[in-house]
Amino acid sequence: MFKGIAVSNGVAIGKAYLLDRSKVCILKHKVSAESIDTEIKRFRDAIAKSKAQILEIKNRAGKIADKYAVILDTYTLLLDDDILVSDTIDNIRRESLNAEWALTMTLDKFAKLFDNINDEYLKGKRDDLDLVVHRIIRNLLGHSQESLAEIDEPVIIVTHALSPSDTLTMTRNKILGMATEVGGKTSHVGIFASALGIPAIVGVKELTSHINTGDTVIIDAIDGIILVNPDAKRLQQYVKKQQNYARYENKLLEEIDLATETKDGQPVQLLANIETVHEVRSARKFGAEGIGLYRTEFLYMGASDLPTENDLFDNFKKAVEGMYPYPVVIRTLDIGGDKILRDVERETESNPALGLRGIRMSLSYPRIFITQLKSILRASLYGKAKILYPMVSFTDEVVEANKFLESAKEELRQRQVPFDENIEVGAMIETPAAAMCVDQILEEVDFISIGTNDLIQYVLAVDRTNENVAHLYQPFHPSILRFLKDIFQAANRAGKPVAICGELGGNPIATALLLGLGKVDELSMDPHSIPRVKKIIRGITLKEARQMADHVLKLSSTREISRYITAEMRARYPSDFDRDQTFNEKPN
Ligand code: PEP
Ligand code: MG
Repeated sequence: MFKGIAVSNGVAIGKAYLLDRSKVCILKHKVSAESIDTEIKRFRDAIAKSKAQILEIKNRAGKIADKYAVILDTYTLLLDDDILVSDTIDNIRRESLNAEWALTMTLDKFAKLFDNINDEYLKGKRDDLDLVVHRIIRNLLGHSQESLAEIDEPVIIVTHALSPSDTLTMTRNKILGMATEVGGKTSHVGIFASALGIPAIVGVKELTSHINTGDTVIIDAIDGIILVNPDAKRLQQYVKKQQNYARYENKLLEEIDLATETKDGQPVQLLANIETVHEVRSARKFGAEGIGLYRTEFLYMGASDLPTENDLFDNFKKAVEGMYPYPVVIRTLDIGGDKILRDVERETESNPALGLRGIRMSLSYPRIFITQLKSILRASLYGKAKILYPMVSFTDEVVEANKFLESAKEELRQRQVPFDENIEVGAMIETPAAAMCVDQILEEVDFISIGTNDLIQYVLAVDRTNENVAHLYQPFHPSILRFLKDIFQAANRAGKPVAICGELGGNPIATALLLGLGKVDELSMDPHSIPRVKKIIRGITLKEARQMADHVLKLSSTREISRYITAEMRARYPSDFDRDQTFNEKPN
């Protein structure tokens, strides 16, 4: 049995198809002085070939491609990348090395850079880089690129890493499930798999050395478990689990149009978190009443130049129009690492989580900030846009940001470009400082949105990306619950809406507790989580939720709180949180 991270829920049972990419052997050798130019040409040819292959995949890709076109563009940009190319050519020249080895050296250098980035999402980009480099190496070695297009019977893909080009060449109805050795919660395999409803598990160490093509595999992407060649009894058990889960999901979707309110009529708005404009469709499908968090980092990374006001405007306009009449909360740039923005050359920070990120970066680079603000303002004319400032820790930062917003508005007025003069502005509450002084921040904004992902990291002093302390990353720590209660109360007192847009807001086990802690107006989450959270809200009264929260607030042990909440939720919602969180048949 193997364990990994379930990124797209469901159960898949079928024959494995092992896509083995790990077997290219790269040897280091010296190139004679007179052959250096030929070696460089060989390298450039391999780059050109890789580019042509990616373009072909992009052209061939059908309807599902729009979302991944962005990722493929990132690939092409990586191939165009000066550093990747010139660094490798330098290595060939300076050390008289063969192109394959020189390229691996460049990759190692990049990899170190990525390791310093404190952002789970951007860290995922490192896998993209690996895949691009791997493609170039295969082209250098004259190996053919293994294609998934030829798969002719339904299989479960098992591989080290799956690239967007792989996913694009697959035929949807030939893929029952996917499992990869690398990848985290935000890797593109997850985005792709959940968009197509394919169960997928990532981050399963050494998987490919234990599975062969043709093995019977069970992908339990509910509990993050993979079983190889199970016995008949196990198989039967999982067939049942698969059916139970499918039934459960269909039932949830049937209720998507029902109002989101507690049994005693307290409404809560459920919105979607998105990272690309293409996810607006999925937000709609799962009944989101708006976008509560549009993370705009994706528009900036990978690009060789900063996006222009028009680029950003086109993108935001699509999002705003696509969600109309619902709102779209566009968060200004929150990049946590460095060297991601080409125009912003800085030293590597030794502690990026506490470094120049979020609003701090925007205030330090006003032109980038004002350009983004202008594009959001322009898009506001086409629906309902709102602006959200990330990583606020000083009220002054909000005041200063609002001054830049004023300048952005003034520039547009002078250009006679119309925008929504009453556009709403919010601050993310995701640092302890902001949480403590939320009443003061509330005076400067129209709404607040709690980023529990960072709030937990900073309150508990636990790096959210460090697996060594993952067991200490506890949303149910009493300090977090007290903070949430106080923030809700402050917002209610100020008469301004409060949202939660961190992962906790979309975790159904926490839903009732959050409602009980105080009046939370909106929960914003991964679109797929909406139906389940809706069901929880519709199944409880505010009074019951409050009783639960009151009890929890008296407890000092995180473990005790988790145990209590889990037991309560299982008792109230047996089909949603049945024993051991599975959809197994209960023992008689
Ligand atoms: C958060 O911190 O909770 C949040 C929503 O922002 P991000 O995960 O992008 O830091
Ligand atoms: Mg955050």
